[in-house]
Amino acid sequence: MAVNKEPGLDAHIAKVLERIGEVSLAMRRKQATDLSLLQLRILGFVKDHAEEQVGVARLAEELQVSKPTISDSVKLLVDRKRLVRIADKGDARAHNLKITTSGMNELAPQSPLDKAVSVLSADDKKAMMLGLLGILEGLFSTGDMNVQRMCWTCKHYRGDKKNKHRCMLLQQDLSIAELRTDCPEHDLGR
Ligand code: SF4
Repeated sequence: MAVNKEPGLDAHIAKVLERIGEVSLAMRRKQATDLSLLQLRILGFVKDHAEEQVGVARLAEELQVSKPTISDSVKLLVDRKRLVRIADKGDARAHNLKITTSGMNELAPQSPLDKAVSVLSADDKKAMMLGLLGILEGLFSTGDMNVQRMCWTCKHYRGDKKNKHRCMLLQQDLSIAELRTDCPEHDLGR
């Protein structure tokens, strides 16, 4: 087992991540006109998964929020024409959600956080990405995160989680930037 020579650094990194999370939430709140943070998260998820089936149950699982709470927010977003419900052809009781143009307008194209990341060196970005993926993997393994479709928890991944990364399904090597955290082909292999 690796010896932790700098236990203080662990707490410091966790604190910095927490701080960045708080700032990110505050920026999203500022960006919101009349929408709550959860409603913005719903819009963002529906936008990023436009080709997939997204309904209340999936949103509840992905965003780790109860179904009634998601259902209330979705209803409001539909009433305000930020989302539309499309009837599922295979299941008369189910609906898929799609984002509207006014829903897209609620989402800022580039956040201040995006800009802050963009000025880091390429080496810093790669090191940070690997570190953050390690944190996500850790949260998933302890059950603190419900859904995590990242390469490192996928049965198709081969590599050392440092310099070598290969997807056996796609039959291609992956750069650090290409490592996925929300892959539709992800398979836990359970
Ligand atoms: S299927 Fe997706 S998540 Fe799995 S290794 Fe390939 S790219 Fe990564």
